[in-house]
Amino acid sequence: MITVSAYEIPEPGRMHLVQRSFPELAPEDLLVRVHRVGVCATDLHLLDGDLGVAYPLIPGHEFVGEIAAIGSAAARRRGLRDGDRVAVEMLLPCHNCDQCRRGRYNLCELDDRSVAAAGRQYGINIPAHTPPGLWGGYSEYVFAPQEALVHWIPDNLSWDRASLVEPLAVAFRAVDRAGVGPGDSVVVIGPGPIGLLTVAAARARGAGTAVITGTRQSRLDVAVRMGADASINVRSVDAFAAVKELLPKGADVVIETAGQASAQEESVHFVRRGGVVVLAGACGSRVPITFHQDEDILLNEIDIRGSFLSAGGFEPAIELLSSSELHFEELITHHYGFADVPLALSHVRDREQGVLKAVINTTTGGSHG
Ligand SMILES: [Zn+2]
Ligand SMILES: [Zn+2]
Repeated sequence: MITVSAYEIPEPGRMHLVQRSFPELAPEDLLVRVHRVGVCATDLHLLDGDLGVAYPLIPGHEFVGEIAAIGSAAARRRGLRDGDRVAVEMLLPCHNCDQCRRGRYNLCELDDRSVAAAGRQYGINIPAHTPPGLWGGYSEYVFAPQEALVHWIPDNLSWDRASLVEPLAVAFRAVDRAGVGPGDSVVVIGPGPIGLLTVAAARARGAGTAVITGTRQSRLDVAVRMGADASINVRSVDAFAAVKELLPKGADVVIETAGQASAQEESVHFVRRGGVVVLAGACGSRVPITFHQDEDILLNEIDIRGSFLSAGGFEPAIELLSSSELHFEELITHHYGFADVPLALSHVRDREQGVLKAVINTTTGGSHG
C-alpha cells in the first residue's frame, strides 16, 4: 500500500509526522503532489492554538504542486490532466450561496457540509479526520474535491516563484478591494511578505506612486525593488510627516498589512479626503481599534474596507509571476526540505537570520539552505 506522509498538529503545542493511505478518487476529485509550501505566520498561530479551530489539523495553505491523479469528470470539466502544475485556493466555497453567486466566495456562507462541516479552509480548519485526511500543504499530497478552486500554473514559473501565488493573491485581493487604478497613490503599511507583494500588485494595477512604511530596513529595501518609490522607516522618522512630504494631500489608498491595531488606527491619517483605507492584516481575535469618527472618517468621507483571503486574486497573481521581471524569488530567504518542517517553523517564530519568507520543498528530505 502506498502511504502519504504529512505533518499533523494533533492538539495545540504539538506537531508530528503521520502516515495516511493514498486516497481513492471519485470522478470529480483530484490529488495534488505538493512541491512547495510556504510557511505563514498563520501556521504558527495554529500550532499555538490561537485560532479557535478544531484539531487534529494538517497545516499549510500556501501550497503548489502537480496533479498526481485526477478523476475523469474533473479532468473533463477542469481541462486538466496528470502532471499539470497547479495552485489550489485555500477556501473550498460552496458555489451556491448568495455570496458565492455574487462572486464574493471568500465570504461563502455555507457551513453545513458533509465534506468539511467544521470548516472549509485548507491548512486551517478542516479536521484531519475528515476523509481522506489530506487537507493541508505540509504533506506529500493534498486532496481536492469538486468544489476546490484549482488554477493551472504555466511551465515557465519555477516552483519557488510559484509558491508565492497564494500570498500574492491575498495582496491582489487587498489592492482590488481598494480599487487601485492607473495613477493612484498608494501607501502600504507593513513590509512583511504580504506588504511587499501588495506593492508589486498595486504597481501591476497601475499605481502611480507607491510608498511603504515599516521598521525593518532590509525589508524596506526589498520593497523598493518590488516597485515602491519610497520607503519610510518609522523608527527614524515621523511617518505622518514623511507621507505628507511625499503626498501633500494624502494617498488615494492606504493598505494596512501588518495586522497591528496601532497601525490600523494610524492608517486613516495617511489617506486623502475621500480616499480608501483597506485593513488587510489580521490583528488577532477581538482586538479593538479606535478612530475619531468626525475628524478621521465623517468629515473626510473615508471608506474603510476589510480584505479577507484571496478571492479573484489567483488569476492576476499567476499572470504577474509569469510575466513580470521583478525578482520575486528574493522574498524567499529560507529554503527547507520536508524533514525540516519543525526547524522551518522555529526559524520563522524566532525570526532567525532575517527570515522573510520560508518555503518548504516537500519533495526532498532535509536540505535547509
Ligand atoms: Zn498565509
Ligand atoms: Zn457559498
